[in-house]
Amino acid sequence: MKIYCKKCHTQLSKDCQIGTILDYDDKAQETAPAVPNGMIIILDEDKFILSYLSNCETPIKKLISTKGAIAINPNDIEDGVLISCGKDNGCCGSDGMDGFNRKCKCGNILGTEWSDCWTQAEIRFEPLKVEIWD
Ligand SMILES: [Zn+2]
Repeated sequence: MKIYCKKCHTQLSKDCQIGTILDYDDKAQETAPAVPNGMIIILDEDKFILSYLSNCETPIKKLISTKGAIAINPNDIEDGVLISCGKDNGCCGSDGMDGFNRKCKCGNILGTEWSDCWTQAEIRFEPLKVEIWD
C-alpha cells in the first residue's frame, strides 16, 4: 500500500504494509521512530499535545492530529515530496508543536513531521488529505 496526495495524486510513500495500533510507539522520543520501517499505521483516536504559554502554568490541550490520521516512518517517504509550511520550529529539525508543518507541491497541507533531536521520528498525515491505494 502507498500513500498519495488526495488532491494531485502524487505518490508520497514507498510501498508499505498496514500495521496495527499495537505497532505504534507513542512513547518514542529522541529520534526513535514511532512507526517501524515499511509500515503504515492508522491512529484510532484524536491526538493532543500539552502546550505551555510563557505566562501561564496551566497547560493547554491542543489537538495535533485527528482520528484516522496516518502515521509512517520518515524513511518510507519518497524523496523531496514533502515541503515545509506553517510554523515549522525546532532545534535541529521539526518539533511538531505548532500544528501542520508539511504540504504537497500542489499546496495541499498534508500533516506534521516530527524530526527534532528530542522528539520521535514520524510523519503523520491528516486522514482527509491523503489516500491509501494498492
Ligand atoms: Zn498534492
